Amino acid sequence: MKKLLPTSTAGSLPKPSWLAEPEKLWSPWKLEGAELTSGKQDALLVTLQEQGNAGIDIVSDGEQTRQHFVTTFIENLSGVDFEKCKTVRIRNRYDANVPTVVGPVSRKKAVFVEDAKFLRQQTDQPIKWALPGPMTMVDTLYDDHYKSRKDLAWEFAIALNEEAKELEAAGMDIIQFDEPAFNVFFEEVNEWGIACLERAIEGLKCETAVHICYGYGIKANTDWKKTLGSEWRQYEETFPSLQKSNIDIISLECHNGRVPLEVLELIRGKKVMVGAIDVTAETIETPEEVAETLRGALKYVDADKLYPCTNCGMAPLSRDVARGKLNALRAGAEIVRNELAA
Ligand SMILES: [Zn+2]
Repeated sequence: MKKLLPTSTAGSLPKPSWLAEPEKLWSPWKLEGAELTSGKQDALLVTLQEQGNAGIDIVSDGEQTRQHFVTTFIENLSGVDFEKCKTVRIRNRYDANVPTVVGPVSRKKAVFVEDAKFLRQQTDQPIKWALPGPMTMVDTLYDDHYKSRKDLAWEFAIALNEEAKELEAAGMDIIQFDEPAFNVFFEEVNEWGIACLERAIEGLKCETAVHICYGYGIKANTDWKKTLGSEWRQYEETFPSLQKSNIDIISLECHNGRVPLEVLELIRGKKVMVGAIDVTAETIETPEEVAETLRGALKYVDADKLYPCTNCGMAPLSRDVARGKLNALRAGAEIVRNELAA
């Protein structure tokens, strides 16, 4: 029988301090050349071990080999000039100095495929691999070539599809696309965002997921959340179309925020990765707190479709805190699994 409530994380996990400065996004590498290559592989082994020790069921690379969930993928595309940077507003929230699209974008070579093969050799557990979503990629660049967010996203979707197919061949069980931008640009999501996502998963036989959240626990995000009112109903705008899409799994933030869980009713029938760990607080959840969030979600998600998860990535947290949170996730899922079995 398939295990109920299999646990996983949304994506990133803290990196060891010998690889990159801890508790920081965009943290520069501390190694270079061949040392960096083997350092990244060692970090993959460490993160796999930590997920295994915590009893996480669906493991990941913890994004150990990338500096940032969007830019590392873009660095491997042609048509983007990293020397020519412009300041743009990301997700209508904060300014960042970003590279410029100067010509047609295409995938020059495989980006994460070697890392994925390496991870596959180390474990028999199911692996989930995360990639940035097309709309979120568009929102992290200045476009001086296509002059159309939709056209640029479509080209990104084609590049992502090439990468995803190779990741599938490397043995990945779930391929996830991170689309925090889906919680901001609702009209565009419904006009072309989901269509681009479906282009990115075209022809895949493995399971596919989209992760939509309120972001890492950085100040720009927590300040933005304060403006969203007492109930966060952003998911309501996009879930009806996502419910009809070909995406298998929807990963979302459900713990400690102000997301009313009844929005889950809008994606009834989909598998749902329910965020039951807050990544913006250092406080480690108790297993009972995790269980309470999962019980709430079970009112709208069938037990065989519920995947306990974290709200978002844990890269900016300390390793101790992240470890504690992984353990709480496992223990909380266990409580509810036992209740379901009883
Ligand atoms: Zn996230």
